[in-house]
Amino acid sequence: MDEGYADLHMHSSFSDGAETPAALVETCGKLGLRAMAITDHDSVAGLDEAFAAAARYPRLLLLPGLELDTKWRGRSVHILGYHIDRKNKYLLEVLAEQRRGREKRLGLMLAKLADLGLPLTARECYPSAAFGEHKAVGRPHLARAMVTKGYVSSVEEAFDRYLAAGKPAYAEIEKLTPKEGVALVHAAGGAAVLAHPGELPTPQLAEELLKGETAAGFDGIEVYHPNNAGCMAKWLRTAKNFHLLVSGGSDYHGIKGKIPEHLGEWLVPVSFVRELLEWHK
Ligand code: AMP
Ligand code: ZN
Ligand code: FE
Ligand code: FE
Repeated sequence: MDEGYADLHMHSSFSDGAETPAALVETCGKLGLRAMAITDHDSVAGLDEAFAAAARYPRLLLLPGLELDTKWRGRSVHILGYHIDRKNKYLLEVLAEQRRGREKRLGLMLAKLADLGLPLTARECYPSAAFGEHKAVGRPHLARAMVTKGYVSSVEEAFDRYLAAGKPAYAEIEKLTPKEGVALVHAAGGAAVLAHPGELPTPQLAEELLKGETAAGFDGIEVYHPNNAGCMAKWLRTAKNFHLLVSGGSDYHGIKGKIPEHLGEWLVPVSFVRELLEWHK
């Protein structure tokens, strides 16, 4: 399977994406993609629905995925897990705990916004009444609610003025360390990939995470990502130097103004990520 295109990073309505897992699969199927992965933050609960939808597209390989947010030296380090066992009990327990942390953090951020004269309820942040404990609430939900309320004119403005790290309504979530995050993916039988390294504040931080005593144990690195634009050749060399699997995807959320705005705008040739697609423990 060396022909065609893949997208191995996108978010559904089980975390902060706008579309259901089934809708994402339908779109990728209709685009004729050969491989895709749904990588929701802290939830694998949307994957059953995704696999049911994928049965209609026999040429499309669906990898079970997820994205974890870990912390290292005060910085956020995202980890993608692929080929995970979505029924793994330990994984499900830890993800449930992470989601409870997200609920708690939402409460803290709402209190800060209220202090700033921008009151909102948690209910107004959930996209629907069906947004239950298996789905992961995040800052994009809060940002969209702020747009609906008329407090800001765009999600981007909500982040820039209030929600980004260091801004007045920001609050931290309790996070795993990268080593713990990688170990969790491994415990669930998956491959752990360092997500969008171009977002790390310095390339040295990536090196620390990949080698020596501070190495977290990654199996791969996400070379092809919109936020790596301009440095993909460098990350490809890093992947080769460290003998790591290469991954790539769009990080599509369906958020207006956030690149990419549509699925299919950021695709990766299957030949670039073949080893990851064929990876097994
Ligand atoms: P959280 O998981 O709640 O910390 O929110 C992180 C998510 O917010 C990321 O995965 C992005 O999808 C989104 N995000 C972060 N920064 C921005 C931004 N400046 N504009 C729009 N979305 C953003
Ligand atoms: Zn997200
Ligand atoms: Fe991420
Ligand atoms: Fe993501």
